[in-house]
Amino acid sequence: MKRASFRYGEVVVLGLPMERVGIIGGGQLAWMMAAGAQRLGLDLVVQTPHLEDPAVAIAQAVIQAPVADAAATGRLAQQCDVISFENEFVDLAALAPLAEQGIVFRPQLTALAPLLDKYDQRQCLQAAGLPNPRYVTLSPGQNPAEVEAAAAPLGWPLVVKTRRLGYDGQGTFVVKTWPQLQARWEQMGCPEVLIEEFIPFEKELAVMVARGSDGQVVVYPTVETQQVNQVCRRVIAPAAVSEPIQATVARFARTLVEHLDYVGVLGMELFLAPGDRLLVNEVAPRTHNSGHYTLDACETSQFEQQLRAVSGRPLGPAGMTCDRAVMVNLLGFETAHHDYGEVRSRLAQIPNAHLSWYGKAASRPGRKLGHVTVTMIAAMDVAATIAQLEALWYPA
Ligand code: ADP
Repeated sequence: MKRASFRYGEVVVLGLPMERVGIIGGGQLAWMMAAGAQRLGLDLVVQTPHLEDPAVAIAQAVIQAPVADAAATGRLAQQCDVISFENEFVDLAALAPLAEQGIVFRPQLTALAPLLDKYDQRQCLQAAGLPNPRYVTLSPGQNPAEVEAAAAPLGWPLVVKTRRLGYDGQGTFVVKTWPQLQARWEQMGCPEVLIEEFIPFEKELAVMVARGSDGQVVVYPTVETQQVNQVCRRVIAPAAVSEPIQATVARFARTLVEHLDYVGVLGMELFLAPGDRLLVNEVAPRTHNSGHYTLDACETSQFEQQLRAVSGRPLGPAGMTCDRAVMVNLLGFETAHHDYGEVRSRLAQIPNAHLSWYGKAASRPGRKLGHVTVTMIAAMDVAATIAQLEALWYPA
């Protein structure tokens, strides 16, 4: 490892910051680290099974292997000073021996362990003193009558969620009766599931938080996320919520990363329920879709922040550089091989629009193909801007 100096504001820090970061996963979250890596003078090496994945184009080297292939991560580590993650579909048990050999994972495997399963996550949030929806679990072999009795106080409807590997609402279902719940569970293949109370939320909120290896914590503004069919369609930054709500969300985020002794960036999703009741829905131990606006609207993007945190550099400031921003996800709406060049150029022509196009070869319904963020002054109309963006991308 070379000795290096780097500049933080006016301060040049001398020392041994890490210079080669391994990322498990090669999707758009790794791809969007490119600018931050360049600014910090870092090299990225990615582990991904598909050479057509977005991050392959920006990586200095690639380990071509599935993300859960721990032996491949061992090879990745030989080339890198630290290993981080762009998705959580990893095999922690298989990675543990690598950590024991001294390979540095950030976030640490012990901080990730309670976050990879939705039930463990709920328990972790409870242990950290953070409110979340009430829940019970249903596992194969359990007596359904007992589970039904345990779930009775949660009322109807209920939300059934697969405990692991769910994303973008896949594996999450709302059910209105016990027979419906059982039928849905059977359709799912009777996996281990979480059954939780349905929260009649007024808004869904999210926040990105970063914690450095020295314990420094930086919290980004609280944003509103809006989902369509349980998939995030748009993000409004900052959320139109009161100061106390902003402050409580920031406190929750700080509490969790400190509770976990977490190093890196983490996304927290919350429900704002009637009576200003805040409940944590979910935690993503990585950069997150609700933080994409930071690329164009904050002093330090979540991607650069992740690299700063995991490579031992001081964190950057998280303030917004504009009054407001809206981010709209460009989700696939058809199965096609299409570069959407014309619509992309029309989106990019909108004043203050910043288009990120992930360069995926194929479109499928629901696939995240890109996003567009519009930076705004306070006087601009959020709803009209969203409508303008969506009218260009989404078929009527
Ligand atoms: P995923 O991990 O697939 O993103 P989530 O748990 O975030 O799944 O659920 C996806 C969406 O489903 C949420 O953004 C929210 O709109 C809705 N949802 C999830 N849990 C609940 C709940 N307990 N009450 C009401 N809506 C919920």
